[in-house]
Amino acid sequence: MIFLPKSENTPPCLEIEKQKANGTYNCEGVLEALRNDFYNKCYICEDREPHSINIEHFVPHKGNKDLMFAWENLFYCCSHCNNNKLARAVFDEILNCTIETDGVDIKIKYEIDPFPGEKARIIALENNNKVNNTVRLLNEIYNGTTTLKKIESANIRNKLLSEIRKFQDLLFEYVNDDYNQEEKIEFKRKIIQQLRPTSNFTAFKRWIIRKSEYLRPDFEEFI
Ligand SMILES: [Zn+2]
Repeated sequence: MIFLPKSENTPPCLEIEKQKANGTYNCEGVLEALRNDFYNKCYICEDREPHSINIEHFVPHKGNKDLMFAWENLFYCCSHCNNNKLARAVFDEILNCTIETDGVDIKIKYEIDPFPGEKARIIALENNNKVNNTVRLLNEIYNGTTTLKKIESANIRNKLLSEIRKFQDLLFEYVNDDYNQEEKIEFKRKIIQQLRPTSNFTAFKRWIIRKSEYLRPDFEEFI
């Protein structure tokens, strides 16, 4: 999870649908705006271009029309994460990735070793309900709970591991003295691209940089 600011203006179709007796928040303008704001990534697992997309109510609406149609309450989520979040009431109170001060990728550490079958390690760096609930949710998302969810989680982790390996290759190329200055600049450009919010599983990549005293000075300003 990383900070992803949402556009401020409510898509007009949401206001129109709210006025209808059987209106839907699932209108085209909402989907387009969410896809742009969240860079076509699930806000929880950070999987880019997920196969299944749900519009999630960050605070469950429980039939409340205002919460159901509140623009700031609508999030872009894959069905694996949406189902998992809905499964437990404690997940109604988690860090909000659209609020910068919630610090979703600073108050939580994201790690995975790039070897087959490795589990993700999600670690709380602050001790409070919101942080602890978010960490519990993310551990379930990446590592699975039920037999079915464990398969879905393993599929997400396979994509994550492949991304981390590609990122690791770039980092090794960047520090390799066989390359000239011009080539190194190109590697640096690619690494910076991977640290942007548009990238897949950005939180894990940013933590590789944060943890490395060797790489941090060159890339800190980009995370
Ligand atoms: Zn997800």
